[in-house]
Amino acid sequence: MIIGCVKEIKKYEFRVGLTPSAASEYVRHGHTVWIERSAGLGSGFTDEAYEALGCKIVADPKAIWAGSDMIVKVKEPLESEYALFKENLILYTYLHLASNEPLYRALKEKRVLSIAYETMEYQKMLPCLEPMSMVAGRLSILEAAKYSEAFFGGSGILISGLPGTPRAKVTIIGAGVVGQNACRMAVGMEAQVTVLDLDTKRLAFLEDLYHNKINTLYSNQENLKKAILEADIVIGAVLIPGDAAPKLIKDEYLPLMKPGSIVVDVAIDQGGISNFSKVTYHDNPIFKVGHVLFYGVANMPGSVPMTSSTALNNATLSYGLEIADKGIEQALLNPVIQSGLQTRNGLGVYPTLIKLFETK
Ligand code: NAD
Repeated sequence: MIIGCVKEIKKYEFRVGLTPSAASEYVRHGHTVWIERSAGLGSGFTDEAYEALGCKIVADPKAIWAGSDMIVKVKEPLESEYALFKENLILYTYLHLASNEPLYRALKEKRVLSIAYETMEYQKMLPCLEPMSMVAGRLSILEAAKYSEAFFGGSGILISGLPGTPRAKVTIIGAGVVGQNACRMAVGMEAQVTVLDLDTKRLAFLEDLYHNKINTLYSNQENLKKAILEADIVIGAVLIPGDAAPKLIKDEYLPLMKPGSIVVDVAIDQGGISNFSKVTYHDNPIFKVGHVLFYGVANMPGSVPMTSSTALNNATLSYGLEIADKGIEQALLNPVIQSGLQTRNGLGVYPTLIKLFETK
C-alpha cells in the first residue's frame, strides 16, 4: 500500500500522524510511505529523519491525498481538504463526527472509508483515544491553574493554597481516562478534589488510589449542581462513545457559580458539557460568560506534540499496519478496527451517527 501522511493544517496543531519510527515500520512491512515536507517538524522530527528510514518526502499535499491508499493523520480533515477526498481512500485519524455533520456528509459523498481513532474499542477501552486523554487530563489542571490567575480574569486562587488559606476546589466530571489523569495532577497539586461519574467502579478505583485525598460522588443532577457551584475549577471529562456530550452544567447554574471559577471543558470535541461551551484555540483559549471562564481547546495534546505524537503513534501503529498488511476487508474482521469504521461506500456505518444524522 501507499501510506500518506500530510501535515496537520488545523490551527496550532503540531502533532504528526506518523513519527519516523512508526513510518519505518510500514516501510519494513514492504509499504511505501509518503510524508509531506516538514510534517514532523512541529513534533521535533526532521524530513531527514524520515528519509533516513526509507520514507519519501513529498512537497505537495494534494499529491499525497491523490496518490495514497491510506492517509494516516491526527485531526479531522478541515473543509479545505474535503475536495481532496477520493473514492475508497482509507482515512485513518481522529474524526469526532458526532459534532461535525458537514464532514460526515463529505466523507459519505466522496465514498471515503473512514476509521476514527476515538471509537475503536478493545475490551471496553478506547486504546487510540487513551493516550491523548491522558495528556489532556494532565494538561487540564495545568491550564486551569494558569487561568485561575487574576491577570487572566480568574478567581486568583492558588491551587494548593497556603497554610491558613483555602485550597482550590476542583470538580472533575467523568472518572475515565481524562478524569483520572486530571485527578492525579489535582491531587499532586494539593487541591480539594471531587470526582463524579455514573460508573461507581471507576469511582471506587480512584478511592482506592487516593483514599481520603479525594471525594467521589455519583453523577446525579443534585450532586452535580452542588459540586459545580462550590468549585473553583470544573473539568468536563465525560464521554458517551460516538455521541454528543451531555449538558451537565445547566444554564441556570451559571450565575450561581463562583466568580472567576473556570470550566476546562475537555469534552468540547464532543460538543462540551454546557450550552456555553465553544471551541477555542491555543492562542486565545479562554472566554468569559457572565463571571465564569471557559476553556475549550479541542486539541489540547497539540500543545505538547513531542510527547503526544509519540504516544499517539504507539497506540495507532499496530492497527494501521494490520490494515496495510491484510487489506481493509480482512482487517475489518478485527473487531477493534471494525469499531472505528464510520463511513463506507457512500453510507454512514457507525450506529450513533446513523441515529444522529439519518433519522431526523
Ligand atoms: P472515558 O470513556 O475514559 O471516560 C468518560 C467517563 O465519562 C466514563 O467514566 C463515563 O462513565 C463518564 N460519564 C458518562 N456520562 C456521564 C455523566 N452524565 N456524568 C458523569 N460521568 C459520565 O473518556 P475519556 O478518554 O476520559 O474522554 C473524555 C472526553 O475528553 C471525551 O469527550 C474525549 O473526546 C475528550 N478528549 C478531549 C481532548 C481535548 O483535547 N479537548 C483530548 C482527549 C480527549
